[in-house]
Amino acid sequence: MNSHIYDAIVIGAGGMGSASAYHLAKSGADVLVLEQFQRGHAFGSSHGATRIIRFFYDKPFYTELMKTAYAEWRDLESVSGKPLLFITGSVCLGGRRNSYGQSVRRSLDAAGVKSEWWAATQLTERFPQFRVSNDMDILWQADTGFLHAAECVLTHLELAERHGATVQEETAVTDIDWQGDFPTVCTDDGQFHGRKVVVTAGAWTGKLLTALNLPLTVTKQQVCYYQPTDTDYFKPKRFPVFAEMTADGEFLYGVPAFGSGVKIARHGRGELVSPDTCQRTPDTDYITHIDAYVQERMPGLGRSTAAEVCLYTETPDEDFIIDRHRQCPDVLVAAGFSGHGFKFCSLVGRIMSELAMNGETDFDIHPFCIDREPNTSSGIPRLQS
Ligand SMILES: Cc1cc2nc3c(=O)[nH]c(=O)nc-3n(C[C@H](O)[C@H](O)[C@H](O)COP(=O)(O)OP(=O)(O)OC[C@H]3O[C@@H](n4cnc5c(N)ncnc54)[C@H](O)[C@@H]3O)c2cc1C
Repeated sequence: MNSHIYDAIVIGAGGMGSASAYHLAKSGADVLVLEQFQRGHAFGSSHGATRIIRFFYDKPFYTELMKTAYAEWRDLESVSGKPLLFITGSVCLGGRRNSYGQSVRRSLDAAGVKSEWWAATQLTERFPQFRVSNDMDILWQADTGFLHAAECVLTHLELAERHGATVQEETAVTDIDWQGDFPTVCTDDGQFHGRKVVVTAGAWTGKLLTALNLPLTVTKQQVCYYQPTDTDYFKPKRFPVFAEMTADGEFLYGVPAFGSGVKIARHGRGELVSPDTCQRTPDTDYITHIDAYVQERMPGLGRSTAAEVCLYTETPDEDFIIDRHRQCPDVLVAAGFSGHGFKFCSLVGRIMSELAMNGETDFDIHPFCIDREPNTSSGIPRLQS
């Protein structure tokens, strides 16, 4: 039995855990991070070169929170000296009157974030890579871009260690016991005590916190990469992030060439899986489907050259869970990021640190309450099947 009592034990060193560890250690806390695999592994949700960062959301509270998330990422860049956030602007493609675009526009307007409606011809003049029909309405937002995701995780961990945190890899947490004075975290390598325990276990959260019976489902998601002959044409300075709600209700998105190439994927509609047994091999019918979309929308990209599997951990309303454990307030939970959480890591890390060290946060986290009724107030149909 290890008699040391940490100020905080963070379970999971993915996007959320690495950021929580950084903010906790920066605030002076004595932090232990326990990760079941090695840092930067590809079995969870935060691997790969890119994640989109954007203000555009159909639920206004996300747009509002993004103001601080952007500032925190810029701060991380300046502290680490590494470029992590790349601004490209974005186009949100939709049919005439683009109902998704309209809800997004309302959120942006409410938060004072500028956006512009474009006609199809404006899109193809500025970005001739797209082939669209004239009856499309396009919403342009200049602040969108992408984060160098894998590097963000490593950077948060590296800086947390520089502030004194201990990161213990290949150590799976098997249980959390809160019957004593402090929560005890159990692993096959021994037990650890923390005044606070921060659970950022991604797709494994439901398994670790079975008593809470959290409404989380884990789905297999896939992304395709394209390496066109003229890669420069699709680089960040010349090609934007895009999202499209198709007439069939599919939500597709893409990120300019970076790392493995241009990334194109479908948001949601993944097969239900267990994170422990999910086959990490991409499905050929998925690749064929995305290739067909690309042929129609951006024919210059050619056919996909690689694909990758990743996991979503979804809540019924796709809103996050950021709260205290109902049976033990010293255990904090950040989970259910529903395929859109990475851009918030920098902010979630700060919030988890504030909740752990001060018992409260000034950020409005009430939409993320652990035992809420599902919030579907936007009136937009759920994107996932
Ligand atoms: C294909 C895809 C595309 C996405 N695109 C975007 C995007 O463009 N923009 C965006 O904002 N978001 C995006 N997301 C969502 C975003 O990546 C996730 O919301 C985010 O990475 C979740 O981070 P996490 O820390 O919760 O999970 P993870 O990064 O999976 O971290 C959880 C960690 O906990 C560890 N762990 C679990 N259980 C234990 C245990 N018992 N003991 C020790 N360690 C444990 C795991 O090994 C893992 O390292 C995307 C996700 C996917 C899959």
